[in-house]
Amino acid sequence: MQKNYYQPAAETMQVDDIKKLQEEKLIKQVKYVYDNVKYYRDLMDEKGVKPEDIQCLADISKLPFLTKDDLREAYPYGMLATDLKNCVRIQSTSGTTGKRVVAFYTQNDIDMWEECCARAIVAAGGSNEDVVQVCYGYGLFTGGPGLNGGSHKVGSLTLPMSSGNTNRQIQFMMDLNATILCCTPSYAAYIGESLKEQGYKPEDNKLKAGIFGAEPWTEEMRRDIEKSLGIKAYDIYGLTETSGPGVSFECEEQTGMHINEDHFYAEIIDPETGEVLPEGSKGELVFTSLDKEAFPLLRYRTRDITILTREKCSCGRTFIKMKKPMGRSDDMMIIRGVNVFPSQIEAVLLNKGYAPNYQILVDRVNNTDTFEILVEMLPEDFSDTPKVITKKEKQLQAAMKEMLGINPTIRLVAPKSIARSEGKAVRVIDNRKKIGINV
Ligand code: ADP
Ligand code: ZN
Repeated sequence: MQKNYYQPAAETMQVDDIKKLQEEKLIKQVKYVYDNVKYYRDLMDEKGVKPEDIQCLADISKLPFLTKDDLREAYPYGMLATDLKNCVRIQSTSGTTGKRVVAFYTQNDIDMWEECCARAIVAAGGSNEDVVQVCYGYGLFTGGPGLNGGSHKVGSLTLPMSSGNTNRQIQFMMDLNATILCCTPSYAAYIGESLKEQGYKPEDNKLKAGIFGAEPWTEEMRRDIEKSLGIKAYDIYGLTETSGPGVSFECEEQTGMHINEDHFYAEIIDPETGEVLPEGSKGELVFTSLDKEAFPLLRYRTRDITILTREKCSCGRTFIKMKKPMGRSDDMMIIRGVNVFPSQIEAVLLNKGYAPNYQILVDRVNNTDTFEILVEMLPEDFSDTPKVITKKEKQLQAAMKEMLGINPTIRLVAPKSIARSEGKAVRVIDNRKKIGINV
C-alpha cells in the first residue's frame, strides 16, 4: 500500500537524527526562554541552573517543571516570550479543571500547529480529495481552529461546522458527502446515535475516517463509534499549553499516537517524586516545546497519565508513540481508598453492551464514600419491570466489582435521560470536592 505522509522528511526521520535535532533545538529554546520569560528565569535561578548547563537531552532533567498553577499565576502575560506585536492569536484551555489558561501564537507558531494537524489528517487517509467536517468547537477552544487549519493545509474541502446543532451536522454530512469527521469521541458517539434514530445505516454516509480527541476514550468506545458510523476512528491528542490538538496523532496501526518529536520533547515522570522514568513506564506526561516563539513552555506537566514506546511502526513513522491517556491524574478518584478511573467504568459498560451514556456520582455520607453509576438502558432493552432492571443492575455491579475492586451502586435509567455532550463530556460529579474534602 502506498504510504502517505504530510511531511515525510520529518515524519520518517532516523531516530538518531530526531534526537540530534531535538538536542540542538532544546539548547536554543532554553536560552530563548531564559532570556525572554522572567517567570521561568526566576524558577531556573532558584534551582541554580543556567542555560549553559543544558548541553544534551538528558540535561533537561536539571530544569524546573511548570504546572497549570504556574500558568494561572503568570496569567495573562507572564509566560509570553515575545512582543505582543509579534503575536497574531490567542486561544484558551477549556477550563476543565479550573481557571482557564490563555496561550499566545505568532504566525510561525500557528503554521507549526496546523502542520501537526495536517500530519494527523493525512495519517487518517486525508488528501485534497476529502471533505473534512470539523465539529470541534471554534473560538477560544483549540479543537476547531487546529483541525480547520490542518485541513486547509492538506487542501481538503473544510466544513467549519463547530459543535452543536446535531441535525444540521447530519444534514451537511449527508448533503455535502463529508468523508472525515473531526470532533470529541463523545460527540461522535452522539452523532452516530442520532444518525441511527433518523433511520440511517452506517453505510449510508460517505465517511471513511474520524479524528477524535480532546478527552479520554477507551478502545471499547473506539469500536462502538467505528461500528455506528462505519469508519476507522483515529485518536488525536494535544493541549492548549503546547499549541492544541496535533501534538500527537494516530496512524493506520491504531496502537497509540506518534508524538511530533521535531517540535515537542516528551518525558514520563513519576507524578509523586518528579523523577524521570525509563521508556515503557506508566507515569505523567511532560512536554517541552522545542521551537515555539510566543508561548514556549519547558517541562510542562500535563497531568495526563500514559506510557511512551518507540517500537517500529508499520506506517513507517519513526516518532515515539504514546498510549491512549488513561485520563488525567486529577481524573482519578479515590473512592473508599481505591483508585478509580472513569475510563475503567466506560470499558466495562461498553463490554457489557451498554452505550457510552453514563454518569458517575460520588459523595460522602456519614464519613463513608458513596459511589453510584447511572447508566442508560438501550432503547431496545428498555424495560420498566423492576425485576428485570434489578437483575441487570446486579450483573453490571458484579462486572464493575471485578474491574475496580469495589462495589458501586448501579442505577439503570431510561434511554436519553443523561445529557449528551457536544464537546468534552462531563462524566463525574464528585460532591466531596464541593464540601472541601481533598480527594
Ligand atoms: P483543559 O485542560 O482545560 O481541558 P484543553 O482544552 O487544552 O484544556 O485540553 C487538553 C487536555 O485534554 C489534555 O491535557 C488531556 O487531558 C485532554 N486530552 C486531549 N486529547 C486527548 C486524547 N486524545 N485522549 C485523552 N485525553 C485527551
Ligand atoms: Zn505509525
